[in-house]
Amino acid sequence: MLPDQDQVVARARQAGVSLIINVGISRPNSEAVLATAARYPEVYAAVGVHPHGAVSLTPRELARLRELAAHPKVVALGEMGLDFYRRRSPEEVQRRAFREQLELAWELKKPVVVHTREATADTLALLREYRSRLAGGVMHCFGGSLAEAQAFLDLGLYLSFSGVLTYPKAEPLRQVAREVPLDRVLIETDCPYLAPQAWRGRRNEPAYVLAVAETLARLHDLPVADVARQTFHNALAAFGLGAGQAAFRKERRQAGRP
Ligand SMILES: [Zn+2]
Repeated sequence: MLPDQDQVVARARQAGVSLIINVGISRPNSEAVLATAARYPEVYAAVGVHPHGAVSLTPRELARLRELAAHPKVVALGEMGLDFYRRRSPEEVQRRAFREQLELAWELKKPVVVHTREATADTLALLREYRSRLAGGVMHCFGGSLAEAQAFLDLGLYLSFSGVLTYPKAEPLRQVAREVPLDRVLIETDCPYLAPQAWRGRRNEPAYVLAVAETLARLHDLPVADVARQTFHNALAAFGLGAGQAAFRKERRQAGRP
């Protein structure tokens, strides 16, 4: 847990962030992520094992993920996926861990948070195999081409943009973001990495996601409030969160808070 976790959440509230999905990358980290989600009404959790740690996903760890996923604040399984850029776990082990988590998500009828790096074709192939058994999900930190974006959208997945969208060299990604229908887009931090340009190199945190919303708003020539509202509703839809979050938001509005 972050020593300044309360302040991080307070700053997010101040910035108008009203829904946070805190995403696990390993079994122990998923436990921590869930503990954080249990502390704050607007924070939810995804539990999973990142492809880097695929070798750690033993049957016992998978069973523990299944237990964690039963908690009402766990709204998705992930991160899961394939990373052939760093290859910290062998490709075959990554495929197995991805498959096992896709199976678990199917069993639990929960959406998936998918990580892919230098492995788009393989990731698509596996997701297509599970197409009829997917309860939706999101391609997190999407950084691919328009054709790749379309392929993931065709699978019913959302695309999530991070602080990368604000980087000077990310013009090709901004071109893609301009073309993706706004009702299929989420925004994220990838904390602690990928802080938007204004904070680049520093620890990222949820409050900074506003910079991603501002960039998207500029690309779509819309007020940032429209993008904020749309991405919030997209997140509710993507993670099956309805009434509870809407009520929480209304309460905050009535209290005069963002
Ligand atoms: Zn990732």
